[in-house]
Amino acid sequence: MAATGVRLDLDGRPIKPMTICMIGAGGFIGSHLCEKVLFETPHKILALDVYNDKIKHLLEPETQTWADRIQFHRINIKHDSRLEGLIKMADLTINLAAICTPADYNTRPLDTIYSNFIDALPVVKYCSENNKRLIHFSTCEVYGKTIGSFLPKDSPLRQDPSYYVLNENTSPCIFGSIEKQRWSYACAKQLIERLIYAEGAENGLEFTIVRPFNWIGPRMDFIPGIDGPSEGVPRVLACFSNNLLRRQPLKLVDGGQSQRTFVYIKDAIEAVLLMIENSARANGHIFNVGNPHNEVTVQQLAEMMTEVYSKVSGEPPLESPTIDVSSKEFYGEGYDDSDKRIPDMTIINRQLGWNPKTSLWDLLESTLTYQHRTYAEAVKQAISKPVAS
Ligand code: NAD
Ligand code: UDP
Repeated sequence: MAATGVRLDLDGRPIKPMTICMIGAGGFIGSHLCEKVLFETPHKILALDVYNDKIKHLLEPETQTWADRIQFHRINIKHDSRLEGLIKMADLTINLAAICTPADYNTRPLDTIYSNFIDALPVVKYCSENNKRLIHFSTCEVYGKTIGSFLPKDSPLRQDPSYYVLNENTSPCIFGSIEKQRWSYACAKQLIERLIYAEGAENGLEFTIVRPFNWIGPRMDFIPGIDGPSEGVPRVLACFSNNLLRRQPLKLVDGGQSQRTFVYIKDAIEAVLLMIENSARANGHIFNVGNPHNEVTVQQLAEMMTEVYSKVSGEPPLESPTIDVSSKEFYGEGYDDSDKRIPDMTIINRQLGWNPKTSLWDLLESTLTYQHRTYAEAVKQAISKPVAS
């Protein structure tokens, strides 16, 4: 667990201990990245977020060996004059802060655009002006829909990977019309990517852009009514976990035919650590980080989660484990969907030699074991409470 001995980068050079300014450190990805950095490296973290519930175990107790290597700053980057000073104190800034749940993209499009573009601007500016390296979290959603999705349903070209595999340098970004506000997120992320790229080209900013493809695992989002709002709609892992915990059918939006590839958070964090510690190989690059071997339709994901949850909880599945729901009913007006997301791994393989390891079954087993252990009792109690009249 301790950071002992000299760490070497991929080219055999010693890695100097660094200070990382991690914005959004209290979120799902941030919490796993903080653990990785504290447990396996000598680096220090300035952890910035408005919340710290998911990293509380790292901040207390102060007797832990890593306690002097993490410092939490409760900061809203929208309006806090301490931001530039903290970026200046660090060698590297990692920006994870964002509104990034699809239920918000069409219902809170202004907050989504401000959060993913406007609020990220000062971070980019301070890094550029102070010659600090930046690792910025974008999204696989910048690819939007696949070219293949526009072909006739029976076209044999739909089977040709060049019509659906998403490559950082060659794939276009295809979004729906403006009234489909789902794309407010992808569009804001694309513009901040372009701005960062331009800062690199014109002002020499050292940057790396990460495009996560559905990273999932423990601590993702919240369970509505338990550690989040009762009416809240988190991402699919938490939605389905909530249904399973409450013994309700899993809701398949528009029949659950969209396809996704899921990667285990612990595999993905390995990739981020390689980026942190191999700046010469990571700077100037945009990286897909996903697991092309873990592709399923949302319906298949629901079926697999039902089977795995039954195994880890010991409870038999429902007779009708899923139910169809329209996207308008589930997300409201302006929702649209990405049809298919398979990451091309050529660039991350070549630059960092990274490959994901965990199968979908295994990652669901460890994640749903965590969900059951963490929430089953609280859900049981919440269900048994009489509803206030
Ligand atoms: P998350 O919501 O769990 O974490 C984001 C964190 O940023 C939260 O803790 C939030 O409090 C914080 N934050 C937001 N606005 C802030 C502000 N103004 N000031 C301070 N803190 C603020 O989400 P996550 O899954 O950990 O995602 C992190 C990043 O990765 C995001 O940029 C997201 O767009 C990107 N991403 C994640 C995935 C995924 O699979 N998890 C997929 C695509 C993109
Ligand atoms: N989805 C679903 N039921 C749910 C939640 C999500 O069918 O209860 C679908 C959603 O429409 C999308 C996919 O699951 O097709 C993944 O949704 P998520 O919110 O995880 O984010 P996305 O991958 O779209 O960014």
